[in-house]
Amino acid sequence: MRQSQLFPKTRKEAPKDATSVNHKLLVRAGFIDQLMAGSWTLLPLGWRVITKINQIIREEINAVGGQEMLMPLLHPKEIWSETGRWDKADEIMYKLKDARGKEYVLSFTHEEIVMDLLRKNITSYQDLPVCVYHFSTKFRHELRAKSGILRGREFMMKDLYSAHTTEKGLTDYYEKVKGAYSKIFKRLGFNFRVVEASGGVFTDKHTHEFQVLNANGEDVIYICDSCDFAQNKEIFKGKVGESCPRCKKGKISEEAKTVEVGNIFPLGTWYAERMRMFFTDRDGGKKPVWFGSYGIGPTRVMGTWVEVSHDQSGIIWNREISPFDIHLIELPGVKNTEKIYEDLKAAGIDVLWDDRDVPAGQKFADSDLIGIPVRLVVSERNGDKIEWKERFSNTSKLLTLNEIINSFGK
Ligand SMILES: [Zn+2]
Repeated sequence: MRQSQLFPKTRKEAPKDATSVNHKLLVRAGFIDQLMAGSWTLLPLGWRVITKINQIIREEINAVGGQEMLMPLLHPKEIWSETGRWDKADEIMYKLKDARGKEYVLSFTHEEIVMDLLRKNITSYQDLPVCVYHFSTKFRHELRAKSGILRGREFMMKDLYSAHTTEKGLTDYYEKVKGAYSKIFKRLGFNFRVVEASGGVFTDKHTHEFQVLNANGEDVIYICDSCDFAQNKEIFKGKVGESCPRCKKGKISEEAKTVEVGNIFPLGTWYAERMRMFFTDRDGGKKPVWFGSYGIGPTRVMGTWVEVSHDQSGIIWNREISPFDIHLIELPGVKNTEKIYEDLKAAGIDVLWDDRDVPAGQKFADSDLIGIPVRLVVSERNGDKIEWKERFSNTSKLLTLNEIINSFGK
């Protein structure tokens, strides 16, 4: 992509109301734009990052048998009344009436919708398990819609739902998804913990959150220094310095600030009983399905990455989720950059080429702000070689075009 054509341009100043790092940098670098509190456009650069995050999630969820589909966002009141959540989750729902007075809600989750799909399509134990998911928008009425893209009133979510014949079937699958989530957050490059938490409006049981360690995070967790025990503030009953309730050997070493990027819920038979999703088991008996739901917020993942990976000059992406593989910059007077650009593209490498007629200093400042992990500088004094500099380091080296292409191994 030619940077002269990229929409929009970068900005020197952060928005006046921006307090968080992700808000300031993602807006300045042209990844997101705020329509109103908690409501964001994903601009072309931002959408590229989200597409990459989604693809990592998709690959790992498909690997545990998830089938992708797409469900509607406008839901009738009746289906939410079946479980009582029309009233119970009132505070976070956006409810509306049409011209005839019929009531609806904009989706904040899809358990009831999946349960309705199941009862229309599942009759026998032979039809189970079912594991379905989608990527779609969620609406939640946030009183505090700040923290940039971390806390939106409208945001993107990957939600997976699974239905099983037995509690063991659910528990086994729940552990599988926990493993898939760990793979996802490792691939994304996060320093994270799997944390026990309460279920909020979803379930009375303990659930698991995936929490990224970050000094500016809004959540607080307690970690053992010896085993993988971690609980969030809502359910942890001990104190820092006490011995770990799980392993007994270690100590609760710290109260760490974190950002939640994913959560998984073992919901049991609560939904099936209320929505009458009974299947015929082997013995001929009617039984409710065991149900689980599993969420990751890709927009929140993008914002969290910026919170943990930036410097004074801008964002520092990793290769997995960077909007482009390479930022190609030509210094004034250079003529052959277009050929290099075409050769890199032909090798399957995603390149942002700064072809603008602006001073070199502005090109470097924008490049640091946007944060693509590899910068290539073409200048006359380097002859046939190209300067390779990585965003997170101050050193650079001179390479031939072939060496560059080989190092990407595409
Ligand atoms: Zn422990």
